[in-house]
Amino acid sequence: MASNCGSCTGEIIKEEKYVLCDSCMMSFHLDEKCLGLAAREVRAVELKSRSLIFFCPDCREAFKKIPNLVKEIKLLKSDLTNVKKELTEVNNRVETMQNKIVNLENTINLPENKKTTNLEVQQMEDVIAEVEDRRYRSNNVIILNINESLKANRGERLEDEKQTVLEALESVNITDRNIGIQRLGKYVQNRCRPLKVCFANPNDAKEVLKNRKNLPNMKMFADQTIKQQKYYKTIKQKLLDIIANGDNSKTIRYINTVPTIVSKGDERGRNQKNL
Ligand SMILES: [Zn+2]
Ligand SMILES: [Zn+2]
Repeated sequence: MASNCGSCTGEIIKEEKYVLCDSCMMSFHLDEKCLGLAAREVRAVELKSRSLIFFCPDCREAFKKIPNLVKEIKLLKSDLTNVKKELTEVNNRVETMQNKIVNLENTINLPENKKTTNLEVQQMEDVIAEVEDRRYRSNNVIILNINESLKANRGERLEDEKQTVLEALESVNITDRNIGIQRLGKYVQNRCRPLKVCFANPNDAKEVLKNRKNLPNMKMFADQTIKQQKYYKTIKQKLLDIIANGDNSKTIRYINTVPTIVSKGDERGRNQKNL
């Protein structure tokens, strides 16, 4: 049984009496000094049939700390619960933020959005160009059937044709002589190109168009943009479809400069009819 005393660390030889600590199970000399007990108590521990439990001096010291340890464990448990709660909250917040970031990235990076933005800018540019073009053209009138001058010199031809136009205008009491003229398209022999007449302001052009029924020898039109011409064609086709379906009560009239299908009895845009 060569073991050492847990108290004095000396060897416990075969003949010596010893006792085991009921907590740490180490051996101790069965004397007052090594057990830290009074002689009476040593004798009680020595009893073979003892019902009391023996704890060595170190274990007895350690047990004194147990109530404090229990308190600390309780505190640690409560802290742990709080930490778990906070961690859950932090996780939730992180998840929410991740979702927001993903949404933001989607909004920013969607190529469709960039395309839409570019498309919108392009559409706005188109509208501005169209408005500008219409404003420019509103000074003009297109005349289809003014014979091409046969003069040899270009300046003389222009002057010749300008005189023809001015005489026609005078015949309906339009005396504005401040006009410019221009043939549209390439010259083809024996063919009469459209003549563009540019007035100093849009009101003159409007006045001429209003009076065109008094100039039956001339075929006159407003100078419309490609878009306006295309739109007129679609409206014209609609009217033709209506007529083909047996309805003869409709006609096209300009209402606020927009060609519109109206009933023949409708007075709207009546005074703009010729524009
Ligand atoms: Zn000892
Ligand atoms: Zn012990």
